[in-house]
Amino acid sequence: MYFILYHNSMKDFADQVAQLCIEKYAKLGKTGKPSEKEWTVLSGIVLKKHDDSLSLVALATGTKCLGKIDLINTEIYKEGCRLHDSHAEILSRRAFLRYLYNQIDLLVDGIESDVFEMDDENKIKLQSGISFHFFTSQTPCGDCSIFLKESCDNNPPPTKIRKEEHIIKDVYRTGAKCVKSEKYHDPYLPGVNYHVVGPLRTKPGRGNPTLSLSCSDKIAKWNIMGLQGSLLSILIPTIKIDTVVVGGNCPFSLEAMERGLYKRFNKELYELKIVQSNISFKEQKNYERTHPCPSSIIWCAVKNRDTEIAIEGRKQGATKKKKGNNLLVTKRALFETFLRVYDKYQNFECNIKHPKKITYLDCKKWSKNYHNLWTTLKSNIFHAWPSKPIHLQTFVL
Ligand SMILES: [Zn+2]
Repeated sequence: MYFILYHNSMKDFADQVAQLCIEKYAKLGKTGKPSEKEWTVLSGIVLKKHDDSLSLVALATGTKCLGKIDLINTEIYKEGCRLHDSHAEILSRRAFLRYLYNQIDLLVDGIESDVFEMDDENKIKLQSGISFHFFTSQTPCGDCSIFLKESCDNNPPPTKIRKEEHIIKDVYRTGAKCVKSEKYHDPYLPGVNYHVVGPLRTKPGRGNPTLSLSCSDKIAKWNIMGLQGSLLSILIPTIKIDTVVVGGNCPFSLEAMERGLYKRFNKELYELKIVQSNISFKEQKNYERTHPCPSSIIWCAVKNRDTEIAIEGRKQGATKKKKGNNLLVTKRALFETFLRVYDKYQNFECNIKHPKKITYLDCKKWSKNYHNLWTTLKSNIFHAWPSKPIHLQTFVL
């Protein structure tokens, strides 16, 4: 575990969060890391406790996302065994889910948890004074990445005043395309009129289009629904991100970040703190690192199997015959963990057991509050959010 003391200044705090992630990354083995020519994104989640100590609880790298055609053609997807979206931000959240299940396990076993405690009615609640802080080494893909090049917060002002007509204004571009059912679409005109801002976008990538939404959209969803997702909402309260820290030395605009993560949906949603750190991740995209690294490292602060390496949404080197073949952060593995932890907690609570063969989709519907809130959000602000095909969610264990 890594602990450092928290300072009041936001910039110092951002540096501490970034440092925890980057230091942990440096200590991990070579497997899954980019070669000299490759780049990747690093993302992590940091826990701040009531005594102001900080510790890293989840970490991931990744740049890839599988396409729609793979999803339809491959049987294995039906069983929830493969990761569709391997962007670092998404994987660090999945690693965080594993961490949370482990924390519930500890609590139910009577071992002290860093995050949870039982209230008088044996309900799980968050310890007072704790908060979670999210790090990503670069601006999330999608809406947050679209802003005027001139407005980039870390561009120094030009040394010479140039004549107005010589300045061709342009925006940073994203390969993330607007979701088809959105009202507005990118005009792709030169300069500032290349993109529209606001619509939901699918993940960038050439060729085979994907069903996964951009990281800007997914983080925006977590900011309303919580990081814990539907299954965990059955057991624990909503967990929100307090601060988003973006690594240094990459294009960044606070305005675009605020818009992308909440203002485009609701200006009064809540105050999310967003800050860029001075510290930067050395293996990010630059002039020398021109190719995205195809593999991902997924780590969380649990005792067993804390680090996993994934490639194309599968465990690296996995074969059908080998045991322990599956990643622990897939839909299927997290569903298995949920049912196991749920049974253990329910025994503790002396309540009814779940039916033996429940589908992933039906199980998600148990979390009524979460399900109702999401249905409401989809009928108003997230109307264009595409649903994952039913057949990918109806698997049983
Ligand atoms: Zn992304």
